[in-house]
Amino acid sequence: MRYVSTRNKNVSLTASQAIAQGLARDGGLLTPEVLPQITPAFLEELKGKTYGQRAVAVMKLFLEDFSEEELTAFTQAGYASDKFDDSRVAPLHTLDEGTYCLELWHGPTSAFKDMALQLLPHLLSASLVKNQEEKTVCILVATSGDTGKAALEGFKDVDRTKILVFYPKDGVSEVQALQMKTQEGNNVGVCAVHGNFDDAQTGVKILFSDEKLRADLADRGYFLSSANSINWGRILPQLVYYISAYCDLLNQGKIQMGEKVNYCVPTGNFGNILACWYAGQMGLPVGKLICASNSNNVLTEFINTGVYNKNRPFHTTMSPSMDILVSSNLERLLFALTGQDDQAVADYMKQLNATGRYEVTPDLKARLTEDFFAGFCDEATTSQVIRTVWQDHHYLIDPHTAVAYQVMEEYRKASGDTRKTVFVSTASPFKFCDSVLHSLGVEEVRQGLDALDQLEEVSGRPAPRPLASLRNKDVRFQEHVDKEQMMDVVLEMLK
Ligand SMILES: *Cc1c(COP(=O)(O)O)cnc(C)c1O
Repeated sequence: MRYVSTRNKNVSLTASQAIAQGLARDGGLLTPEVLPQITPAFLEELKGKTYGQRAVAVMKLFLEDFSEEELTAFTQAGYASDKFDDSRVAPLHTLDEGTYCLELWHGPTSAFKDMALQLLPHLLSASLVKNQEEKTVCILVATSGDTGKAALEGFKDVDRTKILVFYPKDGVSEVQALQMKTQEGNNVGVCAVHGNFDDAQTGVKILFSDEKLRADLADRGYFLSSANSINWGRILPQLVYYISAYCDLLNQGKIQMGEKVNYCVPTGNFGNILACWYAGQMGLPVGKLICASNSNNVLTEFINTGVYNKNRPFHTTMSPSMDILVSSNLERLLFALTGQDDQAVADYMKQLNATGRYEVTPDLKARLTEDFFAGFCDEATTSQVIRTVWQDHHYLIDPHTAVAYQVMEEYRKASGDTRKTVFVSTASPFKFCDSVLHSLGVEEVRQGLDALDQLEEVSGRPAPRPLASLRNKDVRFQEHVDKEQMMDVVLEMLK
């Protein structure tokens, strides 16, 4: 199977080349040219397998230049029991007969980014070897919180990789900062940057575009790369849990083989929901795909009107991982829905760059609404949902998950659709203690890690171990620098 650029189909790479490269040179996203198909027999066989085995079976279809042994080793390392606190890895929680919550936060950082970032480093490291790349890759990350920690955990002690994370000194929560400052591993670095997320991100972009730095590092045996969600190696592991959830529903006798299931996904960069759409295109019986946004509702508008317009106020919400105005992975959907019209996609992206806006054809718009329902949930409603789901179901959800729950209910009311529905939970409620406690009506919320204890008391549920154990961890990284000094930090780490 070949991987092509969404902006130029003549670019054609193997899977390992696509993963090693990350982004196409023309700025497009590397995407499989054809999607492999799965059958009821395939699902029947997957039913009896573990999550890791299901992951191997699904990923093998896309990764022809990897052996089954390799993929098995990667999933065993990435989804090991010392990393995931549930042996099912991505368990389904039944809310009522017809509503199921897919919990994607049982990994080392308590958020769904782990599902892909536990595998990407292995896929990347092996891809470099397959392509005779002798240099060591150094992953540079600017993070507003979740991605940095998940990338650190994923790359920790993986062969032929180093990782350096910059976070804004004033832009992450106390718990998030502590998660990074206590990071273990021999190939990791963490540094705070004075300023906000934009300062850190701009600083990293400058490093990436510095030719002299690139040449210096090449002499030292290093090259720079990133770990963001445009890499195919981050999308692919996400297809697995949608297929796995379907198998679990079959195993539990909740559905018949072939019965369509709706999925509802809290969406930011459009990577997670895109993976579900791909699974549907491969033959998984997916009904409606429900795209849930917070107040940054650029995708809601796009799916409902065909107009993508990022010229709008940016809202800081209690579901920060969805505070996004440009959803990069949407480009892959456009590529598929235009019948792989690379020129049309390149043109839309050019318009987006130039004016912040584009409008798709009526045909394409019709395709969008056929497959997707889109809605959004404001801040007050998010809080209310956290409270009512706790009261009605004794089930604690985080703000991102609450957004999904609300839009799922909105869809059900609007459509009368009674199909079984899986809504996706992307973070542990303990990762967002403050917002969850406030939503539950607690008036005096304690500071930092004490809020973790408080949420344990209020809910009677234990906090995930990696969060609870932060108190006992040694702080390893205290450095903080001005934006202008970030280059020195890189050179110091890659001496
Ligand atoms: C990253 C993230 C999302 C958004 O996922 P996308 O793939 O960017 O759409 C939602 N919830 C949480 C908790 C996240 O970390």
